[in-house]
Amino acid sequence: MFETVIGLEVHVQLNTKTKLFCACPTSFAEHQNINTCPTCLALPGALPVVNKEAAIKAMRFGYAINADVNHRSTFDRKSYFYPDSPMAYQITQLHKAIVQNGELFIDLEDGSQKRIGITQAHLEADAGKNMHEGAISKVDLNRAGTPLLEIVSQPDMRSADEAVAYLKKLHATVRYLDISDANMQEGSFRCDVNVSIRPKGQEAYGTRVEIKNINSFRFVAQAIAYEVQRQTEAYEDGVYDQEVYQETRLWDVAKGVTKSMRGKEEAADYRYFPDPDLRALIVTDEMIDEAKKMPELPDAKVKRYIEELGTKKEDALVITANKEMAYYFEEMLKHGATPKTAVTWLTSELLGRLNKASISIENSPVDAKTLGELISKIEDDTISGKGAKDVLDFMMENESRDINAIIDQLGLVQVSDDGAILAIIDEILANNQEKVAEYKSGKDKLFGFFVGQVMKVSKGSANPGKVNDLLKQRLD
Ligand code: ADP
Ligand code: MG
Ligand code: ZN
Repeated sequence: MFETVIGLEVHVQLNTKTKLFCACPTSFAEHQNINTCPTCLALPGALPVVNKEAAIKAMRFGYAINADVNHRSTFDRKSYFYPDSPMAYQITQLHKAIVQNGELFIDLEDGSQKRIGITQAHLEADAGKNMHEGAISKVDLNRAGTPLLEIVSQPDMRSADEAVAYLKKLHATVRYLDISDANMQEGSFRCDVNVSIRPKGQEAYGTRVEIKNINSFRFVAQAIAYEVQRQTEAYEDGVYDQEVYQETRLWDVAKGVTKSMRGKEEAADYRYFPDPDLRALIVTDEMIDEAKKMPELPDAKVKRYIEELGTKKEDALVITANKEMAYYFEEMLKHGATPKTAVTWLTSELLGRLNKASISIENSPVDAKTLGELISKIEDDTISGKGAKDVLDFMMENESRDINAIIDQLGLVQVSDDGAILAIIDEILANNQEKVAEYKSGKDKLFGFFVGQVMKVSKGSANPGKVNDLLKQRLD
């Protein structure tokens, strides 16, 4: 029996206005190589200057994960030759990172939390992009010098599920902090997965392989499963030492396998040395104050929803899994929904409809204020739950957000007036005298029949609670 050991390195592109060491914009550019300057093109004599906004965003991440935020950190050069890197080195933080010794908690199936250690998070400059068109290759340096925060975990995960839970929590956290848009398809949240196995009970770690640049949570899980199987088979076949060695592999999406890309460079291959052009990054009190401006994070929200709103833990975890959903929920509460109804209407009614239409919550055609108001119409008995669903369906397809007008238009106003409901009840009892007699002689099940008839005659508009009460009065 083997145990899986996983450590993750995640590159998060920080959403600063300008690049890490120059004033070039990081925004989308219409053409290649226009967001460039002598510094990010590595022209001789151009000097880098650290971007304060990037430092503050890295620090904010540090405070969010209970890490040490170093008031003095330094930059190093990591040498490698590749056309997308005009400097022929990457500026990174090897010797003293801005953030060290953090932690993130993931929620396990059984309801408990597990701590995943974060060794460090360091600032580094992104490379440009090589573009291959047939026999010609071109280089676009618009992205060169964009700030990245590389977040390195401890080898603390023991399954693909734990690795994915960690990635999702990290993804949500950087989005709550608003330090990155963390769009995986566009490459602003990229992940390298380190995987090894060891016989259960053995303390020493096995040999790890690194799988580079996987861009979806699903592929992470698949790549880990494949790699664990490959390593386990090698072990069982007695060829572990030959087939599992420290190397970099790639996930081949089409074939569903990992493939060798290159032997892992040793640190010496990169010839790391302190960047002589950059002085140490010293943080000021003002930067610390700015970095500590912290939104409420998912763990704190879950706790507050459970303790103050009476939300069930599973629901609180679903709602806080991304910030848009949590903000939507809180906005509904501000507009008249009670927590319990808001949970159901958000997680099943709205999300159900959005998922069907492949729309994300940010782009929901019905906003939280409108949904909150709609729910308050159920709570004050203006319409039934069924009626509210009809209104929501209507709004998913139409522009109007005038809830009262829609309720009128669809004829959904709920009848709660005793007199009107009693009139219907009396009519139905009069038309079904045999059934009334059977009911009175003990056939209790017929009660449901009478309720059904009243709802039918009222075309669903009668308040079901009222119908129950009044029917009981009349029959007993
Ligand atoms: P390097 O500097 O060579 O990239 P690190 O020590 O920084 O190596 O580790 C890189 C990543 O690999 C970290 O996320 C770490 O948790 C993970 N890791 C280290 N050893 C193992 C192992 N035996 N199995 C799985 N992951 C590992
Ligand atoms: Mg590393
Ligand atoms: Zn530049």
